[in-house]
Amino acid sequence: MAKYTGPVCRLCRREGVKLFLKGTRCMSDKCAIERRSYPPGQHGQTRRSRLTEYGVQLREKQRLRRIYGMSERQFLGTFKSAERQKGVTGEQLLSLLERRLDNVVYRLGFANSRRQARQLVNHGHVSVNGRKTNIPSFRVKVGDTIQIREKSRELPVILAALEAAEGRGVPPWLELVPGEAKGYVRALPVKADIELPVNEQVVVELYSR
Ligand code: SF4
Repeated sequence: MAKYTGPVCRLCRREGVKLFLKGTRCMSDKCAIERRSYPPGQHGQTRRSRLTEYGVQLREKQRLRRIYGMSERQFLGTFKSAERQKGVTGEQLLSLLERRLDNVVYRLGFANSRRQARQLVNHGHVSVNGRKTNIPSFRVKVGDTIQIREKSRELPVILAALEAAEGRGVPPWLELVPGEAKGYVRALPVKADIELPVNEQVVVELYSR
């Protein structure tokens, strides 16, 4: 499926929840969900059709996929990896998604959104264990060190993100070294660490049809 290049706020309005795709704007009253909390399109305000079981499952999957900004193919690939792992597939799926390097860069506060984090990774501003890593889907593991590369630490976009993220905190499975634009993976993320407006079990049911 082609990459979505349209307005991202439209995706939140389609899913009916904030997906936090635009950084600080998502926290302001300029957020499109605050202003127009109905689906996009000509009939967004009038059409109120009840979703079928498949429709509910599809929406949950789309919501999760869009939060992490992945293509359908990438997302399916991650789901298949989750299926191969021991444990509950839905929880493994969340854990694998959360371990993506672009997500970790966002969670550590080096970027205002996962989209911005992906761009930082793509543009070579991030290192893992001291080596430049420009693959957003790179999967981190326990003990990895993630850092903004030295030449990039003074970039205004990164300084602004670090400042904006101060009150946000980092999840318990990560550790941030203040002042060094550096963080560690302390443990693998578990479902309780990942607060998302998604029922992952419904996503598993969709792929099990
Ligand atoms: Fe979604 Fe953020 Fe746009 Fe609000 S501002 S609709 S949360 S992307």
